[in-house]
Amino acid sequence: MSQKIVIVGGVAGGASAAARARRLSEESEIIVLERGAYVSFANCGLPYHIGGDIPDRNRLLETTPEQLGKQFRIDVRIRNEVLAIQPLDKTVEVRNLETGTVYRESYDALILSPGAEPVRPAVPGIDHPNVLSLRNMDDMDRIIRALEGKTHATVIGGGYIGLEMAEALRHRNIATTLIQRPNQVMNLADPEMAMPLNQELQLNGVDLRLGTEVVAYDPATNGLKLTLNTGETLETGVAILAIGVKPETSLAQAAGLTLGPRGGIQVNDRMQTSDPSIYAVGDAVEVMDWVTRQPALIPLAGPANRQGRIAADVIFGRDSRYRDTQGTAICKVFNLAIGMTGLSEKAAKRAGIPVEKVYVHPFSHASYYPGASQLSLKLVFEPVSGKILGAQAIGADGVDKRIDVLAVARGAGMTVFDLEELELSYAPPYGSAKDPVNMAGFVAANVLRGDVKPCYAADVINLAPQCVLLDVRTAEEAMTGTIPGALHIPLDRLRERVGELSKEKEYLVFCKVGQRGYTACRILSQNGLNCRNLSGGYLTYQRTVGETSVQPALPSTPANQIVAEKTDRTDSITPVKIIDACGLQCPGPILQLKQALDDVKPGEAVSIRATDPGFVCDVPAWCNTTGHQMVHVSPGDKGSYLATVIKRAAETPGPVTSGKRAMTNVVFSDDFDKAMAALIIANGAAAAGYEVTLFFTFWGINMLRKSGPVVAKKNLIEKMFGIMMPKGPDKLTLSKMNMGGLGLAMIKGIMKKKSVMTLPALMAQAQASGVRMIVCTMSMDLMGIKKEELIDGIEEGGVAMYVDHLSRSGAGLFIA
Ligand code: FAD
Repeated sequence: MSQKIVIVGGVAGGASAAARARRLSEESEIIVLERGAYVSFANCGLPYHIGGDIPDRNRLLETTPEQLGKQFRIDVRIRNEVLAIQPLDKTVEVRNLETGTVYRESYDALILSPGAEPVRPAVPGIDHPNVLSLRNMDDMDRIIRALEGKTHATVIGGGYIGLEMAEALRHRNIATTLIQRPNQVMNLADPEMAMPLNQELQLNGVDLRLGTEVVAYDPATNGLKLTLNTGETLETGVAILAIGVKPETSLAQAAGLTLGPRGGIQVNDRMQTSDPSIYAVGDAVEVMDWVTRQPALIPLAGPANRQGRIAADVIFGRDSRYRDTQGTAICKVFNLAIGMTGLSEKAAKRAGIPVEKVYVHPFSHASYYPGASQLSLKLVFEPVSGKILGAQAIGADGVDKRIDVLAVARGAGMTVFDLEELELSYAPPYGSAKDPVNMAGFVAANVLRGDVKPCYAADVINLAPQCVLLDVRTAEEAMTGTIPGALHIPLDRLRERVGELSKEKEYLVFCKVGQRGYTACRILSQNGLNCRNLSGGYLTYQRTVGETSVQPALPSTPANQIVAEKTDRTDSITPVKIIDACGLQCPGPILQLKQALDDVKPGEAVSIRATDPGFVCDVPAWCNTTGHQMVHVSPGDKGSYLATVIKRAAETPGPVTSGKRAMTNVVFSDDFDKAMAALIIANGAAAAGYEVTLFFTFWGINMLRKSGPVVAKKNLIEKMFGIMMPKGPDKLTLSKMNMGGLGLAMIKGIMKKKSVMTLPALMAQAQASGVRMIVCTMSMDLMGIKKEELIDGIEEGGVAMYVDHLSRSGAGLFIA
């Protein structure tokens, strides 16, 4: 059956539809009308040409109008823009942008594939010529020209295109700031899964600003001055907008075609619009979300290509149907890849769908084979049936393979029990006999079968009164950090010490990634104890906490500075030993580093290469505690990280006698904010291995008072003083903006939302971590406060005791 098919848009969906139509019908007339100067170019490859990974620009042009003409006998008209559709007489009005001529073209079937355009919000100054976006070859050329001679650029938006652009700019050695309004990059993923990207971006010199937006663009000498919602300003050469796309629907809307609730063109599963002779495909259309069954906009190349093919099939009488979109995607961010398919946990929450989840952190392939690196996988599934709803993965290697397997499993309606049984290819360089996908299935199935009850970071952060945290990692691992307040019993000693645990309590057990925690739970539950295993272990907890505090793992340093530092330091220091700790998990790399430093002379340097992403934070923390000098930590090849450390000089006699560094702080004030600051510093220092002493004097003592009634012998003035002063940490007020308690309530609300520990919890944690709390007896006497009024565990002392502690401290603060 011969047809005249007109296609609007000649890239992903349009070109695909044209080629398929020709394969199905030799005699039909096929016309592609493309506004731009190119057809079928690789828009997904544009950032990689800007960054230099694809040096030859022509490689992005997958075909030309001439080739399409010769090979497929398709009439491709570039620089021809469709201005309007007349559905009644089945014609389109077209302007030839080269000649300005306007003409009409009739059709039997019309396929719309006009794509989506970058969102440009109405922010003052956004029309400045240096505020650019990336959609096509012309945009790419414009960006490359604008970057010439520029030393700094800013990417606005941390989704796929923003992240790829940030990497491209750093590859061009341009200092780069990435501004992202949400508190995480890659907002489609769950925050704890996207968290490692922060570190990766910062390690590669990207100045990452989360929770930030641009409120004005102004001209500046070297380009632009950006005003941020934080009040800061930022001078930059070029700003690249990558905050999302919106479907191009103007033609469809003007022609009276129905749009869907999300603003895209509405189509049925045959890609037909409300006019059966007009089809629409690609980024311009609304699809049905596979899981939520809600209309969605999911602008991805795979769906656009498949839809183009289906539209052509249907035009030629085939019964092809589009099976909805599950949002399978992957993005490279320097050494890491993040991939996802189906439903995320936060999308499930938004849609009110109850889900269960597990985390696993296995290696991408056998850890003994070179190049293995840790992969983090989150599986989201139905609570009872175990049907897979979605998955996310992040790591340096093997993310694509696992996400693709899970996308297929998800599409086939499989359950977590099916994942246990999947037979996947295995040899040491490629995987493990128990593939990460199988592992995720085992862990999820264990939960559903009731072999172990799971708990999550949120349970640990908001610890219920009957719960006790139990860290079953080794002592070395616990030294690199633990969850505040956790009891520590290494797994190897759990059986002999199980008698120490109470049947009245519930133990929230954790190890590094969840595997030993599971074994520990099996031991505990078979001994009649209540317990749950922290899914994904301490690693997932760290990532969750990192997300809620919005603190970057490393300080955001403007890229030009980082590059300079790295070059200077790395060039001038030659390590005497280079250790390969790739494939080892924490504390393996740290132990190897310690061993190597033990064997070298003071002042000599050791370099270590590791693939554990946690290593990037562990090394500086460990150096701080041990006194070795951290030279640099930087990304290496194949997802590894390289750190160089200089052995500390031989110990010199000094005031620090215990071998540990010490800090003594005076707490003078009973203002809530100052008390918080004092306790946060104390806990932080204790966690970093300091011996911490807090010396409470004058108003600071009020924080140590018990809140309930206390029987103490006092005279009248002492009693009056006692009534007027706050009793305990819950009664303190803000030093500023207290507003009769409203300000305090607001700040406590914010703290709760961001999972900041309360003041009483910080005090308890400090005591549990061995922070010594000394109360000044002279101040107590002056203020009429009696020992019985104070919480347990407080020592009494005077100035001499304070001076003694201070003399042994490397640091002292007066918090007033
Ligand atoms: P497009 O491919 O955008 O084609 C639409 C064409 O229609 C345009 O060339 C436009 O000029 C033309 N047009 C519009 N209106 C008219 C008119 N009135 N008359 C004539 N012509 C018109 N997706 C992935 O899955 N993975 C990736 O890694 C990925 N990376 C990307 C990187 C970048 C920088 C960009 C911009 C996109 C990326 N995408 C990626 C998205 C993917 O490219 C799109 O989903 C896909 O191209 C959509 O296909 P489409 O046919 O709907 O629109």
